[in-house]
Amino acid sequence: MNDDARLAFRLLEVSRALAAQGLNVGASGNVSVRCGDGFLVTPSGLAPQACEAADMVTMTMTGDARGALAPSSEWRIHRDIYASVPTAGAVIHAHSPFAIALACQRAEIPPFHYMIARFGGDTVRCAAYATFGTEALSRHALAALAGRSACLLANHGMVVYGQDLDDALAKAVELEALCEQYWRTCQIGPPVLLTAAEMDEALARFRDYGRPRRGDGVRRL
Ligand code: 13P
Ligand code: ZN
Repeated sequence: MNDDARLAFRLLEVSRALAAQGLNVGASGNVSVRCGDGFLVTPSGLAPQACEAADMVTMTMTGDARGALAPSSEWRIHRDIYASVPTAGAVIHAHSPFAIALACQRAEIPPFHYMIARFGGDTVRCAAYATFGTEALSRHALAALAGRSACLLANHGMVVYGQDLDDALAKAVELEALCEQYWRTCQIGPPVLLTAAEMDEALARFRDYGRPRRGDGVRRL
């Protein structure tokens, strides 16, 4: 198996994992991974269980596709993220239940929990509504993603990107968990929000969270 075939196999595995974890049902949602000068994206209108790795569609940055199957109708969102964020290695779009519940309110998720900082800012924004598969939707998503690695799509779902497929999958799962946590706390009443200073501290800590560190005050054996 060459590198591209391995990547296609992993892309299919991640789109199946999203279904297995309840983040997507049927053909909803789509996943891509950067590959060479372009990217590989899931085909349009097919549930991951009905696909094989060979069904993953190779696309160029100019929007040309190779293969018999049509690329995801949201290929522009994927392409536009790769074009504007050099560190983005994989993109996930999901129709996950709690993200959709919040996206239907067309409101951003405020700093109710420090984990909001995981996505690069003190809120997770909600992109303006546009019909699925349109250039307008991609434009709105890119605007909502400015400085962030996640956003909601009004009356639609969520978009996240990561450095690779594993990172993007982890972020999709974490964002859905945060959406559920926000929804739960709103059942009790309006949450007390973190201040800008508190979020700045969380954001600073996330900059090197999970990386080997020196000078962090921890004695090493
Ligand atoms: P595709 O099957 O074309 O990827 O579309 C699913 C979707 O979620 C559209 O927004
Ligand atoms: Zn969608």
